[in-house]
Amino acid sequence: MARLIFLGPPGAGKGTQAQSLAQAHHIPHISTGDILRNAVTQQTELGKKAQSYMDRGELVPDQLILDLVEERLNQSDAASGWILDGFPRTITQATFLDQLLSQIHQNCDYVVNFEVPDEILVARLLGRGRKDDTEEVIRHRLEVYRQQTAPLIDFYRERQQLVSIDGDQTIDQVNQKLGQILRPKV
Ligand code: AMP
Repeated sequence: MARLIFLGPPGAGKGTQAQSLAQAHHIPHISTGDILRNAVTQQTELGKKAQSYMDRGELVPDQLILDLVEERLNQSDAASGWILDGFPRTITQATFLDQLLSQIHQNCDYVVNFEVPDEILVARLLGRGRKDDTEEVIRHRLEVYRQQTAPLIDFYRERQQLVSIDGDQTIDQVNQKLGQILRPKV
């Protein structure tokens, strides 16, 4: 059983680590970015509303995300644990998550903050070649991260839920480090 939030800038390796940890522990990896990209591909109502924000590297409006996360965390596979990757991304989202978790009688065990220097992030993201990975959009996403998401680091640190990890290492090294940090819980 584990309930984890992965926090960090785009390109920090959250998705890669979340995927392998979720698989190892048989819990869902809930990536709001993946859910949104899926919705865009399928051109659902959500996808149509989200697309232009994503293409510009802006955050999708909170209201669109909150409904989606509430629905996902209420699904039965999330009862035994989850890894949230890319959510929350604003203080409003974090406050909403607090209320939602208390409603469904769940607690987050740890918020893992992945730390990676900007120049490494830009190089990694350029190499990834996703549609929203042009240099201009990448730089904007990093700015949006600093302004809107980075305040969550202090938010969770003050509640003693934060653990930080050096994400500027190989995938295996980060994976091993994560295992050590989370061992008491997962
Ligand atoms: P990601 O794959 O997490 O980098 O997300 C890709 C894009 O989806 C972001 O640049 C945002 O436009 C959007 N997105 C994903 N998660 C959120 C969120 N929690 N709040 C707002 N927008 C989000």
